[in-house]
Amino acid sequence: MAYTYDDQNIFAKILRGEIPNATVLETEHTLAFRDIQPQAPIHVLVIPKGPYVCYDHFVLEASDAEIVDFNRAVGEVVKAEGLQAGGYRIISNAGEAGVQEVPHLHVHVLGGRVLGRMLQRAG
Ligand code: 5GP
Repeated sequence: MAYTYDDQNIFAKILRGEIPNATVLETEHTLAFRDIQPQAPIHVLVIPKGPYVCYDHFVLEASDAEIVDFNRAVGEVVKAEGLQAGGYRIISNAGEAGVQEVPHLHVHVLGGRVLGRMLQRAG
C-alpha cells in the first residue's frame, strides 16, 4: 500500500522547531529526544527527519544513507544512555494493530529497569 504522510503530526512539528523537545542526539538524517510521558527511567524516541509514516515505509523507501544513519543513531542512543550493560527494549508501533499514536516513524528505546514481558495479553 502507499502511505500518505501527514505533515501536521506532532513529530513533524518537532522537526520544524515548532514544538520544543529534549534532544538526546541529532545527526544529518535522524533526531532522538526524550518521550514526554516516559514509561521507563530511560525512554527515548528516535525518528528519521524524512517524511516516513512507519517502519516498513522507511526501510522500503528511504535512501541507504538515511537507513544507516537512523540505525546507527539508535545504537548511539543505547550507548549514550548507558543501556548496554543492563539491557533495553526497542519498539516501533505501526498502524491500528500496533496502536501507533503519532504517524511519523519512531523507535522507542526503553531501559533503566526490568521491563517485564513483551506483550500484555488482550482480554
Ligand atoms: P506511539 O504510541 O505512536 O508508538 O508513541 C507515541 C509516543 O510519542 C508516546 O510515547 C508519547 O508519549 C510521545 N509523544 C506524544 N507527543 C509528544 C510530544 O509532543 N513530545 C514528546 N517528546 N513525545 C511525545
